[in-house]
Amino acid sequence: MKFHSTRDGLAVTLDEALLKGLAADGGLFIPDVLPAFALEDFDRCTTITETAGVLLRPFFEESSLAGDLAGIVAETFSFPIPCVPLPAGNGHASLLELFHGPTAAFKDVGAGFLAACLSRLNRGQPDPLTILVATSGDTGGAVAAAFDGRTGMRVAVLFPDGRVTARQAHQLSCWGDNVLSLAVDGAFDDCQALVKAAFADPALSEAHRFSSANSINIGRLLPQSIYYGQASLEHFRATGKKPGFIIPTGNLGNGLACVMARDMGLPIGEIVLACNTNRLIADYLAGDSWTPRASIPTLASAMDVGNPSNMERLIAMHGDADALAGMLRAVAVSDAEIEEQIRLNDREFGLATCPHTATATHAWRALPAAERASTDWILVATAHAAKFEAIVEPLIGRTVPVPPELQKLLERPNHAERIQPTLAALGNALASRFRVDATPAGRDK
Ligand SMILES: *Cc1c(COP(=O)(O)O)cnc(C)c1O
Repeated sequence: MKFHSTRDGLAVTLDEALLKGLAADGGLFIPDVLPAFALEDFDRCTTITETAGVLLRPFFEESSLAGDLAGIVAETFSFPIPCVPLPAGNGHASLLELFHGPTAAFKDVGAGFLAACLSRLNRGQPDPLTILVATSGDTGGAVAAAFDGRTGMRVAVLFPDGRVTARQAHQLSCWGDNVLSLAVDGAFDDCQALVKAAFADPALSEAHRFSSANSINIGRLLPQSIYYGQASLEHFRATGKKPGFIIPTGNLGNGLACVMARDMGLPIGEIVLACNTNRLIADYLAGDSWTPRASIPTLASAMDVGNPSNMERLIAMHGDADALAGMLRAVAVSDAEIEEQIRLNDREFGLATCPHTATATHAWRALPAAERASTDWILVATAHAAKFEAIVEPLIGRTVPVPPELQKLLERPNHAERIQPTLAALGNALASRFRVDATPAGRDK
């Protein structure tokens, strides 16, 4: 299998696509063709790792990692991803809980897979790779957790000091020696500008061998199709019905992964994207032009994306709005509706939901009653409510218990370093932590 950019047709291998992240022409890598599966291909798959082995094999065909697929998959899916029925009065609905990983959000899946791949691609190299990541909250923690302690890999996470929640800051700053956590005296845009400047600086990028782990890397996308595949197969085997999925959506990575799973032949029915007030996707499917907007801050902050980058992939694979409107739906959910859902989910289901997941329950409750009754719906829970306790707890009037994985992290010491938003300050911090001519001190995983 080869991959090409959404903008030109130049083919690369999976290895190159993983290492580069973004194509040289600024486009995003997509597979040349998606493999087509029959349901019987999964007859012998009962666990998610077995399903992953079958689904991912074609993508690894020309990769140097082909022989490592089983190990990569085992590392990626090392935590449970249960699909839990909701005590719904009208029709059948369940919650696909993607939040049992190390940082309690679904980004642990993509970050874990990418780390498992990149660390193997760098095997045998004398010098470590340094992953540079700017984060406004969730992504950086998942990336740090995924690369923590990996031999030959280093991470520098830049986040805006004082502008992430206390628990998020801790998840960005509680890792081992190979993770440098930098609290930048500035906004998220300053962090992002610094990362771009560092990549563009030939001396720095050569000395540290920078690589990126941002959400447009194909290695973040591919493994996300697996949980849709597994959940749909289990549901179809048990009921003979194709479930519909409702997916909290920001940059559209998680939604696109579900579309890809359906394209590959998995038994998936309707796909509904639940957006927040950043409603460009919903407006585009309703006929507006695709004009990127400034992002609007909402309660579902990990979905505050004004220009969802994965739309470029979706259009390259399926065509523009006319084609997409026939295969996808999108709804925009306001902050007031998110708050109402958090209260309703507590009252009706005894369930604490994070603000992102609340967009999905809103989209489900807003479906016409006949459609809620006739289709079995799987609502995607993207993060644990305990990560957003400052929003959720006042609305439901009780404390959200912290899951054990998250509790373990919160008990670790915090080692963030504060820096000014300058390239010189970043260069110094990198040099003093990662003495570039010294052998890496990473621990084996
Ligand atoms: C990143 C994120 C989303 C949005 O996912 P995309 O793949 O960017 O659409 C939703 N919920 C949570 C909790 C997230 O961290």
